[in-house]
Amino acid sequence: MNDRVIIIGAGLAGIVAAFTAQRKGVEVLVLDRTGAGLGTNSAMANAMFNGPRPDYPPQEYMADTIKTGKNLNVPWMVEFTSTHAEDSFEFVRPLGLDLKQLPTIRAFRGERQDIILGAQMMRALAKNLARQANVRIAPGFQVTEILQQEGRTVGVSGWDRKGRAIRFGAGAVILATGGAGALYLHNDNQKSTLGQGYILAARAGLALWDLEFVQFYPLVLAGEHMPKLMLYPSYPPECRVINNHGEDVAEKFGIGDLNQAIRDKRDEFSACLFAENQSGQVFMDFTNVPDPAWIRYPLAMLDKYNFDFRNKPVPITPGCHFFMGGVQIDRQGQTSLPGLFACGEVVWGMHGANRKGGNALTECVVFGRLAGNHAASQAQITDIPISPHQEMAASLPVSTDVPLPPYRELLQRLREIAWYRAGIKRSHAGLEKGRQELVAWEAELGNLKPQSLPAVRLHEDLRSGAILLKGIITASLGRQESRGAFLREEYPHADENNWLKNSRLTYDANSGEFSLSFHPVT
Ligand SMILES: Cc1cc2nc3c(=O)[nH]c(=O)nc-3n(C[C@H](O)[C@H](O)[C@H](O)COP(=O)(O)OP(=O)(O)OC[C@H]3O[C@@H](n4cnc5c(N)ncnc54)[C@H](O)[C@@H]3O)c2cc1C
Repeated sequence: MNDRVIIIGAGLAGIVAAFTAQRKGVEVLVLDRTGAGLGTNSAMANAMFNGPRPDYPPQEYMADTIKTGKNLNVPWMVEFTSTHAEDSFEFVRPLGLDLKQLPTIRAFRGERQDIILGAQMMRALAKNLARQANVRIAPGFQVTEILQQEGRTVGVSGWDRKGRAIRFGAGAVILATGGAGALYLHNDNQKSTLGQGYILAARAGLALWDLEFVQFYPLVLAGEHMPKLMLYPSYPPECRVINNHGEDVAEKFGIGDLNQAIRDKRDEFSACLFAENQSGQVFMDFTNVPDPAWIRYPLAMLDKYNFDFRNKPVPITPGCHFFMGGVQIDRQGQTSLPGLFACGEVVWGMHGANRKGGNALTECVVFGRLAGNHAASQAQITDIPISPHQEMAASLPVSTDVPLPPYRELLQRLREIAWYRAGIKRSHAGLEKGRQELVAWEAELGNLKPQSLPAVRLHEDLRSGAILLKGIITASLGRQESRGAFLREEYPHADENNWLKNSRLTYDANSGEFSLSFHPVT
């Protein structure tokens, strides 16, 4: 068998890892349950990359990142990112990711004004990756298990797009499965982003850290018949966020400049909008924005929606955006399971209690390279007990005509439990109620017997989404303070004396329960 690295997830982190490993001469197999590149959250991104610059020295960048993360960041990861951001940007430049320096941030500039920049960026990268020697991309492949033998990763198993059960052997596997924002009723993520990667990791015995820290983006479209999309920054100075009475909400809560708040204070801003939404609706008012802005990105994108943005304020809500928690890696990008590496949003540590805008994509390129490099050096381990491609006897039902409504209805209810019980503001009573609702919900799911390929996939997604939500609830009940993106009604302030700690969850597949512990930041 050739030396091989398997990468689960073709988002920015997975693609950068793939280019890196491929350049080291190993065979790379990229598996993604959606389309290669375009089904990812990276393709939804605004393509802004943070990092030190000549007028923004590393010390300042690190201090700002940790200040936004309210001191829960893993210090070596912040320092590593600061040190390697620039050379990582240089690495991706010839691959099709040419970043331009704007006044406060670097950004990818696409040719089209009316298409999300992340989609333009990912299309270019995925196309280039597909042309590389030694790289195979398998879209539509859903990994359901990380295979281990004698305490080491030896490959993965899952279903291909036709429902065939397949095992792939490899010397190293990289988990680049992204976050879980679509677990929440209101969100701006790809709708399949339900946290499957966290549960693959938890089932493989990995701990999940800081799951209670979930970032909400303040400005997500909430109009009827509208896609649940973020209103992309930057916002022209004439934009205003207003309430039912026409009051300027940012002014009312002392939020200040919208663009600045989006970079540094998403937690505070989302909490204000959530509070305001309790007593009425909140709107983004573009009506004073002059004509020239409407032919440029990002407002040019709004033309395709059936809403008169130029003359009517549009309803908005905060929505789930990003997961700060996830799996732990070491300085080689390796998890606690030998041979299993991780990069991108699925990894915990860089962002602490709240992420600074632009740091997620930088994390993808920096840690994608780290994981790709070190995974490639372990790909040559030869006595893999699993063949490179082994089709299993069991396959999924191929019928596609069995109705999905019961699953869709359960997904909707799961999202409601997440939003109302473990959302922007959490309380002991609400979290406990969420836990009970989840038990009843799981019993209902258990009664369904999926008969078609889409139903089996959705069933699996729902199962892992529910496990993840249980983890979020467990960690949220444990943390008795408010910090960054995490707000507890009973404990409205950060407690620097007792809670400068990261939470750690381990999953017991037999009982279906998590064990929780807290550890001082190191
Ligand atoms: C609307 C929006 C705008 C954003 N804008 C910015 C920005 O401008 N700057 C910034 O820094 N950050 C931004 N972010 C955050 C950033 O885009 C994400 O954190 C980042 O793209 C995540 O990249 P990733 O490679 O880790 O995961 P993803 O891009 O989400 O890719 C993960 C892939 O793994 C696949 N996968 C998951 N589980 C499995 C499985 N079991 N089997 C097979 N495949 C699987 C998924 O289908 C997905 O395709 C934004 C996020 C959103 C939602």
